[in-house]
Amino acid sequence: MNTFLKFLNSIVSIIILIFVNSIFIHVYADNINIYSIEKDNSLRLLLSSEKKILSNSFILEDPPRLVVDIENIDKFSKNNFEYKYIKKIRASKSNNKARLVFDLKVPAKNFKKNTFLKKISGEYILLIDLNLFSIQNIVNKNVIVIDAGHGGPDPGAVRNNIKEKDITLAAAKILREELLKKNFTVYLTRGSDKYIKLRNRVKFARNKSADLFISIHADSTSNKNTKGTSIYSLSEKASDKLSQALADRDNKSDLIAGLDLDDLDKDVSDILIDLSRRETKNSSISFAELFIDQLTQHNFNLLRRPHRQAGFAVLKAPDVPSVLIEMGFISNNADLKKLINPNFQKKLMKNTANIIEIYFTALK
Ligand SMILES: [Zn+2]
Repeated sequence: MNTFLKFLNSIVSIIILIFVNSIFIHVYADNINIYSIEKDNSLRLLLSSEKKILSNSFILEDPPRLVVDIENIDKFSKNNFEYKYIKKIRASKSNNKARLVFDLKVPAKNFKKNTFLKKISGEYILLIDLNLFSIQNIVNKNVIVIDAGHGGPDPGAVRNNIKEKDITLAAAKILREELLKKNFTVYLTRGSDKYIKLRNRVKFARNKSADLFISIHADSTSNKNTKGTSIYSLSEKASDKLSQALADRDNKSDLIAGLDLDDLDKDVSDILIDLSRRETKNSSISFAELFIDQLTQHNFNLLRRPHRQAGFAVLKAPDVPSVLIEMGFISNNADLKKLINPNFQKKLMKNTANIIEIYFTALK
């Protein structure tokens, strides 16, 4: 295509998008609408707003992503919901500056900074063009972040000098090995006996553009008869007293370690992160249901109502499906024996890896 035709093509695209955009009602004056046009090996992003968009954009690798920093913007609206090249759109906010991150499925070949601002029909436009590598050459590798609960000065549940933090770390390492065998990309939030703030575990998963976040724990309760494996997904309200007590205790983890528990929601509370929060919640629930279904088939001893919901801080990434596995109860004699047994740890984690594989195969 010659330069003139290319130019004409751009103008036509913009005009069409402006027209489409005018149909949407602007509830917020400082809202940005995000559109994308995906063609063979190219991605055009069009951001429109009633306010002038003061932005800075750049490309980062590993994972490949485009970052757009925008000043004085509170809300974003996503106008496309299926993408070929975009894996995920994330948004965060700090100091009056909003950051949009477009996680890309393929790296950008030569990011020409074709960004410019234009005022057309009362709308300010920010246009970004990316040239991308061919999607055929890319092996779709799902990223799993495994989080061993507690660590360092925070032992988690303790009984007979057996500490939850050691059990979770051992299990996390086994799960990593099993997932690497299946060619997943795997990261551990901690690989040694150290403490990491809850919010930083979530941040870590978001920065790695994780497709799934799994936090591993072992439970404890005053009722010594309570036993079995369970899995939690996020809820704003805990589904029952046991769930609430557990979430409260694990959320206090940051205090135990002598650190303030930051309000994780602060980063994202006053920003509309399109619809990803709901999508994420549904994905987390699907994974939890599959997990229970599979463990039942493989005769694992499960807690009564094994899929529960609670307000765990580590499950609050708005854009990473997240679950928390309670391997069993340290407070129950039979469970305790299993939890410290490497054979049980291996059996449970091997099954978990299989379930993760089934989950992602079903998504394809
Ligand atoms: Zn725990």
